[in-house]
Amino acid sequence: MFELSEKALRYRDDLLAFMDEQVYPAEAVYEAQMAESGDPHFQPPIVEELKTEAKKRGLWNLFHPHPQWGPGLTNLEYAPLAEIMGRSAHLAPEATNCSAPDTGNMEVLTLFGTPEHQQQWLRPLLDGEIRSAFAMTEPAVASSDATNIQLRMDRDGDDYVLNGRKWWTSNALHRNCKVLIVMGKTDTTAPTHRQQSMMVVPIDTPGVTVQRGLPVFGYQDREGHAEVTFENVRVPKTALLAGEGDGFMISQARLGPGRIHHCMRSIGMAERALDLMIDRAQSRTTFGEPVANRANIQDWIAESRIEIDMARLLTLKAAYLMDTVGNKAARTEIAAIKVAAPNVALKVVDRAIQVHGGGGVSDDFPLASMYAHLRTLRLADGPDEVHKRSIAQWELRRRDPNWGKKA
Ligand SMILES: Cc1cc2nc3c(=O)[nH]c(=O)nc-3n(C[C@H](O)[C@H](O)[C@H](O)COP(=O)(O)OP(=O)(O)OC[C@H]3O[C@@H](n4cnc5c(N)ncnc54)[C@H](O)[C@@H]3O)c2cc1C
Repeated sequence: MFELSEKALRYRDDLLAFMDEQVYPAEAVYEAQMAESGDPHFQPPIVEELKTEAKKRGLWNLFHPHPQWGPGLTNLEYAPLAEIMGRSAHLAPEATNCSAPDTGNMEVLTLFGTPEHQQQWLRPLLDGEIRSAFAMTEPAVASSDATNIQLRMDRDGDDYVLNGRKWWTSNALHRNCKVLIVMGKTDTTAPTHRQQSMMVVPIDTPGVTVQRGLPVFGYQDREGHAEVTFENVRVPKTALLAGEGDGFMISQARLGPGRIHHCMRSIGMAERALDLMIDRAQSRTTFGEPVANRANIQDWIAESRIEIDMARLLTLKAAYLMDTVGNKAARTEIAAIKVAAPNVALKVVDRAIQVHGGGGVSDDFPLASMYAHLRTLRLADGPDEVHKRSIAQWELRRRDPNWGKKA
């Protein structure tokens, strides 16, 4: 059922070769260039070199489902590729122009952008010349319920004027970030899910201020997770994506594929952590025997294999359903993998850290940074609890269709 097409197999082989020949050898160069710069948001030359090489090899925009912009792979075909990229998450997704949040933003601009938006922003995003950010979450309200957001988008003649504060706007500190997709409220008197709109806002518009980068467990990620203020930011009415009141609908459309990409990359990270765990357990000896001979360590290795394979199968099922019945009908499966994949990967990385001893929590191995990144995926794109709520609701209504519905 999940057999790969010939086309997908070709891309997989080419991507594996690119990883071995270019990406893994570049990891040490990347670390050295970042350390030498002393700037957490530096754009190291090695990343641009990898982008050139990936483009040359035809490994570009692999995520894009529309054939005019990329190879036109299905979610099921893209899944194993995203998993491979997840093994080197700082480098491979950006090298192939498959990084979040640009992938989601490119899909939004493809589906809902005007020809002008597409010319000005989508084209350079597809070419990897610029990057973008998505600003929905706000510090002042519980943003896992998107109907709470407060940023105002007030009509003034032919313009909208934006006022509000966002945070966790990932990518806003990337050196190439030029544009934000912003969610706010255009009409607070409309029905709950029709109050929100989305607009395309150039990051250098007067009144947009990137206040700070938020650290994750002390790490300042290169792309940055920014707190951004909007003070009387004036944009023309053509900044609107789709129509007034369509913001909630766009956010739902945007998050389906983005969630599945995160899950696939998490599985790749878990596979790499398992490799590291095994290598370490086989190469270190305590009390006269390799650590790998201990029953509890073998139990961790076996449990990790079982859990990774279960998470992968669930992810492939979600991808298959997205391709065959659509994102909306697959929403329960998408919610399920959004919970399952990061949690499984976190468990595997935690075991790998333990097997590495003190080294595991240091920066000499990629495990600590993997853990920090994966832990954020239990929050980003919606916390576990919100996805479990949706799954439980679906299960409860399966037995009683009126469960929880207001009379
Ligand atoms: C590294 C990182 C990157 C991010 N990138 C972006 C980005 O690019 N753009 C963007 O807009 N946002 C981004 N986010 C924000 C992320 O999407 C939000 O943090 C998330 O949606 C939760 O919103 P909140 O932080 O306001 O938490 P709140 O809504 O305040 O929720 C807090 C907690 O309450 C609990 N909770 C909430 N609802 C329920 C429920 N129904 N049942 C039980 N418990 C519940 C959960 O445990 C939840 O974690 C990012 C976050 C992180 C950490």
